[in-house]
Parts: sequence; structure tokens; C-alpha cells
Amino acid sequence: MAGTRVPIKAGYFTVPDDPSEPPRLLGSRCADCGEHFFPRRAICAKCLGEHTVDVLLGPRGTLYSYTFVHFPLFGSTRLEHIGYGVGQVDLPEGPRVQLPLAGRQEDYRVGLPVEAELDPLREEAGQEFVIIRFRPVRS
Ligand SMILES: [Zn+2]
Repeated sequence: MAGTRVPIKAGYFTVPDDPSEPPRLLGSRCADCGEHFFPRRAICAKCLGEHTVDVLLGPRGTLYSYTFVHFPLFGSTRLEHIGYGVGQVDLPEGPRVQLPLAGRQEDYRVGLPVEAELDPLREEAGQEFVIIRFRPVRS
């Protein structure tokens, strides 16, 4: 039985109680100019306003660019992580984020709609440490 799912690092994405629900990215929106950011920031990088509010971003986006690395993922003991993809994904809210990709290189092309999901990295003391990554949208 899987233990409690916890993010590998706090403050970057949600871990929904319902495993069928996609995670969201924890971002900021500038109350002065409306610009969105990921990760969260206190001061707007566009207008230097100091009134940013916490917002949830994603879970869907469009693949802008990607690459596949044939080298083990740091901290993982899972065999499938011997190679992994990294994608730059444009979120509908505006930010371009860089995160791991699920699956194989052949599954991706530029412009592909992708959706965030959680991926268990390792289990420790009944806790399952998860990362956020993108996969192709299932139609
Ligand atoms: Zn601003």
C-alpha cells in the first residue's frame, strides 16, 4: 500500500488527496499588472509591484521545446529514470516552465498539449516522495 504522498520540495506544486486529480503549480499573479509567475515571487519581475497574490497554475499547457537526457535522474532508484525528458511548457496563464516529461521521446512533438501529473520518486518511512512532471494529454 502506498504511503502518504508528499512533494519532494514544498512550495512548488499541490498534491491532491484524490490521486485521479492532476496537481497544480503554485504560482503568483501580480495584482498591479496581471503578470503570472512560476515559481512564486513576492515582487513582480515585470512592473516591480509588491502586490503579488498566490494562484494555482496549469495543470495543462503546450509543449514549447523539449529534450531527452540519457543519464540517471538524481535521487531516483527507479530503473525507468535511467533516462528522462525535460520540457519547456507554456502555461495558458503565461509563464513558461521547465519540468520533467513522462514516457519516451517518441511521445512528444513541439506544440503538443500536455498535462501535469505526480510521479513517485522514492518511498521512505511510509511516505512517498513525488515530483511533478508533464505527460501528453489523454484524449
Ligand atoms: Zn506587475
